[in-house]
Amino acid sequence: MTDMMEIMQGDITKLDVDAIVNAANRSLLGGGGVDGAIHRAAGPELLEECRKLGGCNTGEAKITKGYNLKAGHVIHTVGPVYSGKAEDSGLLSQCYFNSLQLASQNSLKSIAFPAISCGVYGYPIKEACKIAICTVRKYLEDGKSSVTRVIFILFSSKDYNIYEKYLEEISGRLRGC
Ligand code: ADP
Repeated sequence: MTDMMEIMQGDITKLDVDAIVNAANRSLLGGGGVDGAIHRAAGPELLEECRKLGGCNTGEAKITKGYNLKAGHVIHTVGPVYSGKAEDSGLLSQCYFNSLQLASQNSLKSIAFPAISCGVYGYPIKEACKIAICTVRKYLEDGKSSVTRVIFILFSSKDYNIYEKYLEEISGRLRGC
């Protein structure tokens, strides 16, 4: 399954994929970080469509068109604000799972994820990386999804290196997660 996953360093708004995932907040009305960058690149029509969605709960996901982005769709998901409590990991995992499911329901093949919750929401990148990769791996293992390509795109080289190391660690193992 790790052959369907790839990591990149750069700006998610530039990617030509079926869907990019937005680390949104519960209002879905835009914010800073990757959310702000996606809205700036997609143009005002994205916000117009988001207004009609009525927000989104933590761990859930909603889909819109991509407008001026190269990506055909944006999947908006709301990561947990890191609290150090046990429920953080389940909620973060749900973000990846529900985004993939939404992509599959829309027959999409390629999807790119930022490091959800790892900016303003404070999730430690090493823990979040394991949750991201393991949730996606498990999902792909099912073999029933339309998704065949998953990109993890990291803004910083430090974060990129953490993902690269973890992906290498688990790629040789039958059960890495
Ligand atoms: P959250 O509120 O979920 O923590 P942030 O947007 O603050 O979301 O950060 C999530 C991650 O997205 C961070 O690791 C940040 O470095 C990264 N990021 C910010 N802008 C971009 C971008 N244009 N492309 C890819 N990743 C980005």
